Amino acid sequence: MVKSAFIRCKSCGVVNKIPSNRFNDKPNCGKCKSPLIIPEKPVDINSSNFDEEVLRWSGLVVLDFWAVWCGACRIVAPVLDELAVRARGFVKVAKIDVDKHPDLGKRFAIKATPTLILFKDGVKINKIEGALSKDQLDQWIASSVKK
Ligand SMILES: [Zn+2]
Repeated sequence: MVKSAFIRCKSCGVVNKIPSNRFNDKPNCGKCKSPLIIPEKPVDINSSNFDEEVLRWSGLVVLDFWAVWCGACRIVAPVLDELAVRARGFVKVAKIDVDKHPDLGKRFAIKATPTLILFKDGVKINKIEGALSKDQLDQWIASSVKK
């Protein structure tokens, strides 16, 4: 079934409705013709791209606060990689290395890794600590969105 995703243009800010069967056709913004970026792998977040990649994304973002030395983060990493492909255009996956970006860890009061924060249209809607399986992650997202 073809579903449509709402992708905000990074150049002009207009939200474009793109059917999922056109994701690979290099869609352009209907207004300014800039290429629309529909990531299919986790996006690395830092202080300078946080607003653009997380707060201004239209729809859902799973933001993973992780650390290189964290074993549970390595367990959840492939689950998030898989989600980024499977839910492309609908759930964006973003990652923050808390050692490189302590300012963002502090901003969201991160006490443990991994911590996942779910954003919808730039608003934080839920937060969970610890590694999740694929099913647990799907359930967490579904129940968070329903609230
Ligand atoms: Zn545009």
